[in-house]
Order: sequence, then structure tokens, then C-alpha cells
Amino acid sequence: MADAKPMLIGDEWINDSGAVLKSTNPATGATNYEVCAATRAEVNRAVDTARQAASASTWQGMLPHQRARLLSGVAELIEARADEFASLQMRENGKVWRECRAQALSASAIFRYYAAVCETITESLTPSRGNYVSMTVHEPYGVVAAITPWNSPLTMEAQKVAPAIAAGNAVILKPSEITSSPALELGRAALEAGLPPGILNVLPGSGAVAGDALVRHPGVQFVSFTGGTESGRRIAAAAAEKLMPVALELGGKSPHVVFADADIDAAVAAVSDGIFEGSGQSCVAGSRLFVQRSVHDRVLAGIVERAKALRIDLPDAPGAQFGPLASFPHRDRVAAIVDKAKAEGGDVVTGGGRPPFEKLSGGAYYLPTVIAGLANTAGICQQEIFGPVLCVLPFDDEDDLLQQANDSVYGLAAGIWTADYRCAWRVARKLEAGTVWVNTYKQLSISTPFGGFKQSGIGREKGTGGLRLYQQEKSLYFG
Ligand code: NDP
Repeated sequence: MADAKPMLIGDEWINDSGAVLKSTNPATGATNYEVCAATRAEVNRAVDTARQAASASTWQGMLPHQRARLLSGVAELIEARADEFASLQMRENGKVWRECRAQALSASAIFRYYAAVCETITESLTPSRGNYVSMTVHEPYGVVAAITPWNSPLTMEAQKVAPAIAAGNAVILKPSEITSSPALELGRAALEAGLPPGILNVLPGSGAVAGDALVRHPGVQFVSFTGGTESGRRIAAAAAEKLMPVALELGGKSPHVVFADADIDAAVAAVSDGIFEGSGQSCVAGSRLFVQRSVHDRVLAGIVERAKALRIDLPDAPGAQFGPLASFPHRDRVAAIVDKAKAEGGDVVTGGGRPPFEKLSGGAYYLPTVIAGLANTAGICQQEIFGPVLCVLPFDDEDDLLQQANDSVYGLAAGIWTADYRCAWRVARKLEAGTVWVNTYKQLSISTPFGGFKQSGIGREKGTGGLRLYQQEKSLYFG
């Protein structure tokens, strides 16, 4: 316990909660370290600390450009320590080095972006309908809980913490129990950058204990959650009890569409990256591929060829393109879903097992997998897998495509490949998804809103609205 990594409440590092999380390297199965886990007692303490910090006159009176300066300081520290942040994430979730490093730099850029938004966003006058001046201003909620998943902690956490603090709140960050360390380092950077103690608190712990206690705590006034749809549903139900607003970024089963007139080589490359990057552990992974029937076999063959050519290796091996899944139970879950699809008549065209390399045998690896021959109604085409598994489905025309692609409880993202921009426009407007890419895929920018339709979520992160998410509007009338 004494060796366990401590949690951060205010400016105190605490490791005597009596509970620990064990961090395992999914690439090797080796134990990384133990992390002290928050229980209800630490949640209560963190909420008290955050409330005091949020209501302190020094914080409430701090002008936006002064808050922006602090956020820029955090950005500088993350950038300077990008290797350290990247290596912590890599050891905990197994993503390849190149991606971890890019995500560390992206986290820094997110803080920089919200520093700029913080000091430039304006309030507005509303049209007067009488002898008065009316306006709307925006005020922070107070204490925000940010609850994050394991697949991209560096960026997800920056995406919540930076705008919530820019908006004037205090934040309690509960990272996934698989990836506690990037969040703890973010807490350290925030203190070093001069953020007042208590404005960012970091509580590693389980969702069932720490996460649930945070959501239900009367002192928490807003929850920003990214994770699975079932967890989101539970959080929304708990939030309803106290009538608390929430932002939910949830799961997806995104359709990636290739029309016969598309640049097939470019489409094949994007479809392959869109599902296999991060070993498929991306909320926007294009996991259902719809190919117009006349080019179906050609596209399928191209993707299989790329899947087989991916460099599967230890995440820190030079040139590694494809690492392990983030945990052994998750790998076993993915394998079970594929086995079930096989039993139901799915044709596993490539993959469907573990890589046959001795040096990877201790890790949670699962091969890039392509399945054909099942209808969109099959379980594997409807369920979010969150692994490197692509289902390939043919379609005849736009109507057939839209009927199949929209037949999903999810609506997070979609991609379209075609040379016909009229077709792209029609289909993009009719696909039920929060983000649609045309002749590109997985292009994500902090300046563009992101979120889901249907059961993929409630609310939009990113962009200037990403800061407003963490504020409530107040109307003022001056007679
Ligand atoms: P989970 O929903 O299992 O967990 C996400 C976070 O919520 C974790 O910190 C978890 O804690 C916590 N949690 C779980 N249950 C509760 C609860 N009842 N109350 C409070 N907190 C809770 O998701 P995963 O970590 O498995 O991440 C994968 C999922 O995230 C996928 O479904 C994916 O689609 C989604 N995701 C969505 C994104 C989006 O932007 N739409 C982006 C990235 C991922 P614990 O660590 O104990 O599990």
C-alpha cells in the first residue's frame, strides 16, 4: 500500500484509502504497479475540497485571460513531458508508441485551444422588447465529475478537464481503473502550472465504487462521462434522481460506406485504418463496412491484404502498427463474440484468433479480423465489439444502404467514399450519426463538435460549445 501510486485531492497526495488497483501491462501480462483507489470516504473528501476551491473568491474572481494563462501552462507541461505521458498510457492500455505520443501532443493542444476559447468567448445582448437592456451570461456549475474510459485517456481527459476548468468549475477526474496514471500526471501538471489546489482532483478507483459515489453525491453538479452505453444508462438514471445534467459520450457501431465509383485504393486504406488503428478500440471505429455489390469482392480482398500486412508487435517496437487489446478479459470477450459469429455462419476471412508469434504470447493480442457472410441483423453487426473486428456487408443502392446502415441503436459516426458529391451530400444528411466523414475517415479536430445520435450519447464536446457544456446560462434584465 505504501508503494501504491497516490491519488490527488487538493494539493495532497493520498495513498491510505485501504483499497488498491493493480495495473497490468497488456502487452506482456507483467504487473506495472499498484494505484491507491478511492472509496466513498475519498469521494466525500474530494467533493468538499472541490466545492471550497470552486467557490473561493480568488477562483471566482479570476478573469478569463488569467485562467487561460494557467491552461496554457498545463499545455506547456504536457508537451514538455509528452514522452512520459505517452509511455504511461502505452504501459497501461497497450496502444502503440506512435499513437500514444500523438495523443499526448493532442492533449497539450486541447489545453491550448481551450485557453484561447476561454479568453475570447463572448457574452451576448438579446434583442430588447421594451425599455430595458437584456443579456445572457454563462456561469460555471461548480463541481464537475469527469469519468473517462481506458482507450484514449490522454485525449479524453484533456477534452473534459480543459473546458470544464476554462468554464470556471472545479473538476474531480475519475479515470478508468485500467489507466489511472495519465490522469494522475495531469493532476501533477495542473498543480505545477499554478492551478489553485482543489480545482483539479484525481480519484483513481472503480466505476462501481468511486464512479457511482461521485455521480450520486449531492455536491457534484454536472457529470461528463465517456464510456459504454450501459454505464451511460446507469449514470443517466442516477443523475435523474437528483435532476443533474449530464454529458454522455457513448458507444458506436459506425457504418463505413464504399460506393462503386469511389477511389477504391484510398477507401480500402481508410477502412482498414478506421477499424484496425488502436486495435479497434475506438468509439468511432468503422466496424460495419457497407460495400456496393459490384466492387464488394475487390474491396474485401484489399482489406484482407492490408489486415495481413499490419505489423503486429510490442507497442514500443519500432514501426509497430498493431498492439494488444487493453486487457485480458477484454481480449477474451472479443474472441467470444467472434466465435459466436462463426457458429452462426459468419465467414472469418482473416484473423479470428491470436497471433502465432512467441514473443507476443504473454500479451492480450487478437488478430485483425474480417467477417463476411452475415446480415446486418446478426448479433456481431449490432453489438459494439470495441476490438479489431470488421463486418463486411454488400448493398445495392442508396435506399438499401440507408436502411441497413441506420438499422442500429448507435449513431456516433459514419464514413462515405464516393466520387459523386451529390450522392455524398444526400447520404451524409440521411445517415443517423453525430459525425459523417466524406472521402476521409477518423479526422477529428478539437474545434469541431463531437457527440452521438441515438444511444451513442447526449450532448456535444469540443469546439466553443465544449466550454459552454460546463456552464449554465443566466439572463439579466437592466431597467
Ligand atoms: P465503461 O463504460 O465500462 O467505463 C467508462 C468509465 O466509467 C470508467 O472509468 C468506469 O470505471 C466508469 N464507470 C463504469 N460504470 C460506472 C457507473 N455506474 N458509475 C460511474 N462510473 C462508472 O467503458 P470502458 O472503460 O470499457 O470504455 C469502452 C467504452 O467507451 C466503449 O463502449 C466505447 O464506445 C466508449 N467510448 C466512447 C467514446 C465516445 O466519445 N463516444 C470514446 C471512447 C470510448 P471502471 O474503470 O471501473 O470500469
